[in-house]
Amino acid sequence: MRVRYLIIGNSAGGIGAAQAIREVDKAGSIAMISDEPYPSYSRPFISKYLVERHSLEKMLFRPADFYDQNNIISLLDRKVDSLGWESRTVELDDGRRIGWERLLLAVGGVPIVPAVEGVDKRGVFAFTTLDHAKAIDKFLDNAHKAVVIGGGLIGVSATEALAKRGIEVVIVEMKERILNTILDERASLIVEETLDRADIRVITGQTVTEIAGAPKVSEVVLGSGEGIPCDLVVVAIGVSPRIELTLGTDIKVNRGIVVDRHMATSHPDIYSCGDVAEAYDFVYDTNRLTPIWPNAYVGGRVAGLNMAGVETEYPGGTSMNSLSYFGLDIAAAGIVAPPDEEGYEALTKQTNESYRKVILKDDRLVGMVFVRDIEKSGIVFGLMKDRVNVGSFKQAILDDDFGLAFLPEEIWRPRLEASLGRG
Ligand SMILES: Cc1cc2nc3c(=O)[nH]c(=O)nc-3n(C[C@H](O)[C@H](O)[C@H](O)COP(=O)(O)OP(=O)(O)OC[C@H]3O[C@@H](n4cnc5c(N)ncnc54)[C@H](O)[C@@H]3O)c2cc1C
Repeated sequence: MRVRYLIIGNSAGGIGAAQAIREVDKAGSIAMISDEPYPSYSRPFISKYLVERHSLEKMLFRPADFYDQNNIISLLDRKVDSLGWESRTVELDDGRRIGWERLLLAVGGVPIVPAVEGVDKRGVFAFTTLDHAKAIDKFLDNAHKAVVIGGGLIGVSATEALAKRGIEVVIVEMKERILNTILDERASLIVEETLDRADIRVITGQTVTEIAGAPKVSEVVLGSGEGIPCDLVVVAIGVSPRIELTLGTDIKVNRGIVVDRHMATSHPDIYSCGDVAEAYDFVYDTNRLTPIWPNAYVGGRVAGLNMAGVETEYPGGTSMNSLSYFGLDIAAAGIVAPPDEEGYEALTKQTNESYRKVILKDDRLVGMVFVRDIEKSGIVFGLMKDRVNVGSFKQAILDDDFGLAFLPEEIWRPRLEASLGRG
């Protein structure tokens, strides 16, 4: 088989690209390959699956007939084993070869497995796919206590889901505070207090040295020597870009696959997007990994348009997380703690009800943290994304009644018109 467009990965990035291609090229053949057995589903919803055993229909990112409707050949449960970057082919795990004219690597990330004794025991799981959630779900009938290794976004999401299923959970985090890459100290503390109220024990500044039990997990041993009894372990210490297909090719890879503003790799007809790609981050003004769903989707759209010959520039993304844990709403983006350098400024406002903080550099927003009252975070993120000079109204940004009316007319008018559909 030979296709005009081949997309490896059937998630946010892959779907964004496929849809964009079809908008501008109705006839060019498209094939999508995924080694997961499901049509594209919303990965962040796997915690909902674990809590409520959501049906697959409720988790789908696009209707199951999306592929037929868009004349896309969909190969599910099929892994691409190797990439012939010179022959313009890929080889599948069933031995088939597929030729391509334009290729998109939207292959996401893989969970990092720690080098800890016992990590391969029964009862140890990762938590990044629907199959992981299903495997944990099956295990829960005979489980009461869990240890979640890693207090990042995935670890805390797994914790909440397990707690809602009646499991006693302990989080073990190596750093001094949980969610340390996406929140500042104050916000991390508020989340820890919230978890404490939900009877979740959070142990920070500790590593796991062993997962004990035979043949099934029975205890996690910490560096301090403390043993935590458990019958289930979720390993959530991070995800690394899945760069395996680029090994031995001329595609430039740093931590992830390096792409330009068209989402093209160093190979002219190979594109990449999403969690595997190091794409432009508008806050840092350089390429970085920004592994969140909307960036994967928008990057995929831009890649798809360029693959189909419609020159389009990626506006850039940044890390932006909108979370809700045990009823605590949080929105955080960009630089959450200002570096000790000239030009940075932090404005904060804290009440019993909420915590708000913005970081500015030379009067432009480069970061924000909103906890509990997150209603205005959308406007603030918009100003951040558009690189608006907020110098003339920065003191009002954290006010309770901050809104478009606080902005100078040349800033509020286009926003208002866009929101009314006239932009
Ligand atoms: C528990 C959890 C909660 C999350 N919560 C949020 C959230 O609240 N907000 C947010 O913005 N983001 C969240 N994320 C992150 C978000 O899911 C990712 O940023 C997004 O899924 C990235 O999309 P992607 O298309 O780059 O890759 P992925 O979603 O990782 O998909 C890549 C696909 O490619 C397949 N693949 C890879 N290699 C091959 C191969 N060789 N052959 C065939 N198929 C292959 C993979 O199996 C996978 O199906 C969460 C992630 C997890 C795990």
